[in-house]
Amino acid sequence: MLHIMKIDIFSLTEGENSFQFEVDLTLVDLPTELESEMPLKVNAGVTKRGTNLIIKGDVTYPLSLECNRCLELFQHNLQAPLEAYFVLGENVPERKEDGEVIRISHTDQSLDLIEIIREAILLAVPYKALCRADCKGLCSVCGRNLNQEQCDCITRSPDPRWAVLKDFQR
Ligand SMILES: [Zn+2]
Ligand SMILES: [Zn+2]
Repeated sequence: MLHIMKIDIFSLTEGENSFQFEVDLTLVDLPTELESEMPLKVNAGVTKRGTNLIIKGDVTYPLSLECNRCLELFQHNLQAPLEAYFVLGENVPERKEDGEVIRISHTDQSLDLIEIIREAILLAVPYKALCRADCKGLCSVCGRNLNQEQCDCITRSPDPRWAVLKDFQR
């Protein structure tokens, strides 16, 4: 497992270069709930055209997320697209494509991917994580996990329209 996330600029050849590596997630400064013991897998293609470097790929790792409805932890395989543009040297004309261009100096020896990877992960975390699409959630009266057991609580018949509203209000 690698403990750095840098790509040596001078080792790049003109055209396509591809990289696959596993890195220790503790290198990435992530909120505790996104940490994982498992390594982060990075799959990246670096295209070099003169002073332009285009990185495209993805990062994946398994993590435990808390279900938004039943509050149980479940395994989620996070996959985040990776995309970045670098321009070498201070005086090269800016060339914007879809993404933001990161300018790096001629004196830099390597591309540090940590910040890009961190942003990619944060963007890919589901806003509302569900353990499964039809998770029944918790009983609003007794708090039982209704995926695991039923209860006899008398709840007002849940009108599906209200359920949707309730989800929005969270
Ligand atoms: Zn759930
Ligand atoms: Zn109940």
